[in-house]
Amino acid sequence: MPDALPSISPSPLQRLRLPWTEAAGIALWLKRDDLLHPHISGNKWRKLAPNLEAAVLAGHQRLLTFGGAYSNHLAAVAAAGRLLGFETIGIVRGERVEPLNPTLAFAERQGMQLHFLARSTFRLRKKPEAWAEWQARFGPCFILPEGGSNDLAVSGCTAIAQEVERVGVHVDYWIVAAGTGATAAGIIRGKTRGQVLAVSALKGDFIEREIARHAGIEAGTHWQLLTRYHHGGFAKWTPELIDFVNAFRRTSGIRLDPIYTGKMMWAVYRLTLQGFFPKGATVVAIHTGGLQGIAGFNERFGNLI
Ligand SMILES: *Cc1c(COP(=O)(O)O)cnc(C)c1O
Repeated sequence: MPDALPSISPSPLQRLRLPWTEAAGIALWLKRDDLLHPHISGNKWRKLAPNLEAAVLAGHQRLLTFGGAYSNHLAAVAAAGRLLGFETIGIVRGERVEPLNPTLAFAERQGMQLHFLARSTFRLRKKPEAWAEWQARFGPCFILPEGGSNDLAVSGCTAIAQEVERVGVHVDYWIVAAGTGATAAGIIRGKTRGQVLAVSALKGDFIEREIARHAGIEAGTHWQLLTRYHHGGFAKWTPELIDFVNAFRRTSGIRLDPIYTGKMMWAVYRLTLQGFFPKGATVVAIHTGGLQGIAGFNERFGNLI
């Protein structure tokens, strides 16, 4: 069994010159973690790499994890398991609906065993307190929390900041989408300068506590959570967001997903127009991947992207 997850490494850092970045006089860079691997993309690759190394070292042959029906994490675990020779078990929130959506169909094609749990039970049984139950049911397995967000995952994400700093870009602002906040926490821990702006992909501000816990540092000069860019909540959208994502693709050639990276880049755009970034500032946005989710999004809402 190979002990490392393959990728292009380091991921490219791309300068984006768009009409609005040039008008504002800022230097915008995009860390292209979406290019790390075709099926284990973005921050899911960063989070999984150290976890899978630990699983291999501990002699595990089975991975078990949790996710929603369109979860980028489930898809990534299924693909990584296939690649490295792990059996994979995915506990999915909700009921099985045939035909499976593109995310779950992909996971199953990669060999992941899917088990569906009603929403109420899912909430309780994904918790670490219930993990012994899963071990008893499926045998010894390496369990990854929902979103893959544990301490090893946070340490894997420190490399995002380290790679950028190593090439000599002096960052004033880092900007990254947040779901559980583990990726933002890794960047906060890995950076030596600049402020991290974590753009919440969902409503509510509980992520602030999660980021503080994962990073070991309270919000303030090192980082802040931006809670005004979720477009109605997790996986919710507005026509404005869709138009932005499509226009961004036309002008930059880069695809964004509407769940995370589209909202993150929308925040960069709005903050730039509002003059939030001083002239001459260097802003590094993280493309955390998630493009596998576009097919499922289009299937649900009509071919918007
Ligand atoms: C999962 C995911 C996130 C959220 O990452 P967290 O570490 O949970 O905050 C952001 N962007 C994309 C594309 C994701 O798939």
